[in-house]
Amino acid sequence: MSANFVANTVTDKLSRNFEYLRISVTDRCNFRCSYCMPSDIFNKDYSYISQDNILSYEEIIDICKLLKKIGLKKVRITGGEPLLRKNIDKLIFKLKTEVMLDRVSMTTNGSLLSDDKVSELKKSGLDSITLSLDTLDKDKISVINGTKKNFNLMPLLESIEKHFNIIKTNTVVIKDVNDDEVIDIINHMKNFKSEIRFIEYMDVGESNKWDPSKVVSSESLLESINEHYSLKQMKTETSSTAKKWHIKDSNSSIGLISSITQPFCSSCNRARLSVDGKLFTCLFASNGFDIKSVMRSDNYEEKLLELFKKIWMERSDQYSQIRFSSKRDLPKVEMSYIGG
Ligand code: SAM
Ligand code: SF4
Ligand code: SF4
Repeated sequence: MSANFVANTVTDKLSRNFEYLRISVTDRCNFRCSYCMPSDIFNKDYSYISQDNILSYEEIIDICKLLKKIGLKKVRITGGEPLLRKNIDKLIFKLKTEVMLDRVSMTTNGSLLSDDKVSELKKSGLDSITLSLDTLDKDKISVINGTKKNFNLMPLLESIEKHFNIIKTNTVVIKDVNDDEVIDIINHMKNFKSEIRFIEYMDVGESNKWDPSKVVSSESLLESINEHYSLKQMKTETSSTAKKWHIKDSNSSIGLISSITQPFCSSCNRARLSVDGKLFTCLFASNGFDIKSVMRSDNYEEKLLELFKKIWMERSDQYSQIRFSSKRDLPKVEMSYIGG
């Protein structure tokens, strides 16, 4: 047995154990967020993954069962917009009852949620929902998220709090786009038991024409939030991407995700499974490992398990740590495909 495979744990070249998988269940979305799927590129001519090449729920379950043997504990269902995939509750149910994962969560733009849908997701075993919320301004939604849909967020927030006890939100903060709304978003979300997370705008994929001058650093955000609220830093798991602060006299916390200014590669325990069954060991990778082809061959289980161990043990990704100091030749894959 290799030194970096100990029963149910597999460790990469930078001493990071595998624990967490983000699954992109679809590369399609009903939004066109400028920072993720800008409408000039993700238009009617864009080639999405064909139906034959999309992993079935059975295949996803089988992959998770194997990954559990090397340490998988948590899964996040994402995309694209995960609620566009039919019967997603059935996948969640099996992940909880057959694979018996500790935690199954979902990130969604919320546009396809209703009280009934939230209740159905809870009943299926989903542990938490993270809602993407970039603006409270109805006119700005069409600019940032590329949707004309007029959200009435209030009932949705109440419903998520009622069924899941807490609402988690993600806001990608972009300079001169929505950085003036940070305090308004906190004021609004503070009416609920909530974890209000702000994400530094990242250079994922090649489509969003990322401009580093549009990044608002978590440090500067924290300074302005501190002017309005009394905050107390909270303890977080070492593998957590967010640093967290409790807002005094409230049931809410702030989370700051600083992939650009304070990278957290040294504790990165996650892999990503693309909609067409490729395993990626970094969000900013150019290539994934073709798991689906192995799965669709005879007697694949043992082969696939060995492949998983090998992939993780040879992993040395730390893109965010070296973002500004190294040159790369190959294009990065898009976030909607690899799973945000
Ligand atoms: N469609 C779902 C949603 O928007 O919640 C799930 C997929 S989306 C790719 C997952 C998360 O990635 C969202 O919270 C989104 O804000 C974040 N994201 C997408 N592009 C990003 C970027 N360039 N920088 C930072 N976060 C980004
Ligand atoms: Fe769609 Fe989510 Fe990407 Fe926005 S961030 S375009 S909602 S996948
Ligand atoms: Fe993990 Fe890659 Fe992000 Fe670093 S850049 S935290 S290795 S996904």
